[in-house]
Amino acid sequence: MKLQNEIIDKKKIKFCKRCLYSNLHPLGITFNNEGICSGCEIHEEKDKLDWDFKWNKLKKIIHPYKSKLNKNYDCVVPVTGGQDSYYIVHLVKKLGLKPLLVTYNKYFNTKTGIDNLANLRIQFDYDILYQNINPNSVKKIARHTFMEEGNFYWPILAGHTVFPVQIASKYKIPLIIWGAHQGLEQVGMFSHNHEIEMTRRYREDHDLFGLEAQSLISINNILKEEDIFQYQYPSDSEINSVGIRGIYLGNYVRWDPLNQHKEMVKKYKYKSIKFNRTFDIYDYVDCYNYMDLHDYLKLCKHGYSKVTDHASREIRHKRITRDEGLYLVKKYELNKPVYKELFIEWLGLSGQKSLNYLINRTKNKNFWTENNIDNWKFKGLSSLIKTNKNVNNIEKKIGKLFKSTKSIQRVNKSKYIIFGKGL
Ligand SMILES: [Zn+2]
Repeated sequence: MKLQNEIIDKKKIKFCKRCLYSNLHPLGITFNNEGICSGCEIHEEKDKLDWDFKWNKLKKIIHPYKSKLNKNYDCVVPVTGGQDSYYIVHLVKKLGLKPLLVTYNKYFNTKTGIDNLANLRIQFDYDILYQNINPNSVKKIARHTFMEEGNFYWPILAGHTVFPVQIASKYKIPLIIWGAHQGLEQVGMFSHNHEIEMTRRYREDHDLFGLEAQSLISINNILKEEDIFQYQYPSDSEINSVGIRGIYLGNYVRWDPLNQHKEMVKKYKYKSIKFNRTFDIYDYVDCYNYMDLHDYLKLCKHGYSKVTDHASREIRHKRITRDEGLYLVKKYELNKPVYKELFIEWLGLSGQKSLNYLINRTKNKNFWTENNIDNWKFKGLSSLIKTNKNVNNIEKKIGKLFKSTKSIQRVNKSKYIIFGKGL
């Protein structure tokens, strides 16, 4: 159980002068002499780099992977019914590669996510491989990581990052193509010029918060080898024998999720959803939990949530100001998750009370005070940032930027689509 938190001296919390991130960002962040964070500094490269040169470099990198006889796939591309999947596949097509699309079934699927995935297959006409892990094992692991780490999303993060590598190894396809690198995009862990590639280490340390599959069974014996073997990363010798490498398109293309999504809506009818806890309507539209309950847990543990990520991103792209971003964060971050009931039913919890108990024990005492039983006061990161600027026009502005298109669908309170063909 790692849910105890060290006491943080709030006077030592430092915020970026440009975006809304602090030095407590879990991926690690640094500040320059002007008080600008590493994420904002690296973001500036987007306006300085010669992206035509970068694109041509990418073409050269992928050239040797093109199958001459058309007998095999040129690359593996992990996709979902949300995030940047459409844009990634769009670029892969532009590069003239023949991909094998792979998708890990997260089981928390929305209808929009299922439809997006089906439409992706139809629009691009590529083969797609689904991995459906036995739901009982997934639940067992989700329950375990929720109890121990306050994170029920582990199987999805692990599955999404390992399945493509397993397939690359099995089918002997040495190239895997990802979208943007989160460490680069959020906190500027690397420069675009480092052209960082996929590593086992980053996956374990950051994607899986230090919890590799094998360590789940060594903590206790509830989980057995047969529950976790599907989440194990191929060995170095397997990876080396195929020569597997994973490249990130964000190193070669100026990454801008909002404009990319708008283009995908127009070109391929990508569908968006309005969620309750953020203003972004494009991001994880395939999942009932990522921007809902999972995001609320992020707020419980880290004192900030996805809306801070979205606002910081928009500030960096200069579409909103820092004060407007802060307004949006405060507007959304305390909104309650809407789909708790679905999760209770899926995980087989006894009811709201037991879920609330599990949620409350993830609350970091640096950011939450319990006034009374089940009565918590939030004093998270946004409450430490001062603002007194006029943000009158932000609602209108954000409404225009993230405009509901014809394709918008409200998530209805039905059920997770465990398996679905879509459309
Ligand atoms: Zn910043």
